[in-house]
Amino acid sequence: MTHNDSADGGELRVGDRITVLPGQARSGHTYRPLTCAVTIDVIHVRRDHDGSLDVEGVLLTARGAWRAGVPTRSVILPPGSYTTPRRVGDTVRYPETGETPAVTAIHLRPADGTALADLLFTTGATTSGVRLAELEHLARPQAAPTVQPCKRRHDPALACNRCAEAREPVTTGCEGPLCRQTANDLVVYRPERAVAQVRALCPAHRDAFTARNQGAPMQVFPLAEGTHNYFAHGDGTQIATCRHCGHAIYLYPKRALRGAREPWRDGEYDETGRCTVGEERQGIRVVHEPAVTLAERDWARAASTCTTAADPHPIADCPARRS
Ligand SMILES: [Zn+2]
Ligand SMILES: [Zn+2]
Ligand SMILES: [Zn+2]
Ligand SMILES: [Zn+2]
Repeated sequence: MTHNDSADGGELRVGDRITVLPGQARSGHTYRPLTCAVTIDVIHVRRDHDGSLDVEGVLLTARGAWRAGVPTRSVILPPGSYTTPRRVGDTVRYPETGETPAVTAIHLRPADGTALADLLFTTGATTSGVRLAELEHLARPQAAPTVQPCKRRHDPALACNRCAEAREPVTTGCEGPLCRQTANDLVVYRPERAVAQVRALCPAHRDAFTARNQGAPMQVFPLAEGTHNYFAHGDGTQIATCRHCGHAIYLYPKRALRGAREPWRDGEYDETGRCTVGEERQGIRVVHEPAVTLAERDWARAASTCTTAADPHPIADCPARRS
């Protein structure tokens, strides 16, 4: 890793994560040279008249999390006394495979300050949740990349599978025999002396199903935009991913029937539908709303920085938010 001053004059900025090298760097308090390397998350930076930088940062662990108690450190950094921060747009080396993907987004995990990167590989695949601390900086483009359809920032000339599918709607498949259509309705029926069962069906299979099961108590609920799953047994609760928080959200049939304006909920006991994570991020009132395209859903899950992509769960059950 070398000091890079091609893109922006070598300036550091708030949010950069750097390793300060011993020898040339000095303590901002004692002015003595640092004797061992420290890794910091830059929270303040000022250029000195002699060309060095006065920097204050939060100390980081080897894995890139804030140290317990969030201690800060002041350092004076002459050119060449710190590693190049990895930023969105940079080409990096991915240690697991030696591949050289581009960083397309950086998400901060609120629980411990770990920076997690989304990487775009030359195959067009995106991987999320990679620790920024594990990536080796290789190169930076002349201009910072702009937001693409996949909601990440990258050179539009790069092949990106997420961009290619970005506008595809989130859907539920029809469960009719050999059917490849999208389901439009959720049919809840109660066969005699059995628990309620739920089927997602296209219009043709819904008609066939209701004709075949005449006499059994049955309800039909239209599938809401963004629904990708539902409970196979029960009353017809639909499941989506919130586009603000990336977590599982639920549409209960009673609320849907009442035609509530903000019907998506965190769980059965959620009365308001307010999205606390979205509110923390945006600073305004936000309600859970379903991601309706694949890009929205994938982006929201990656930004959640928890395990919701592999294991969809509501905020109430979030392992990253348990205190
Ligand atoms: Zn893309
Ligand atoms: Zn069908
Ligand atoms: Zn939400
Ligand atoms: Zn979570």
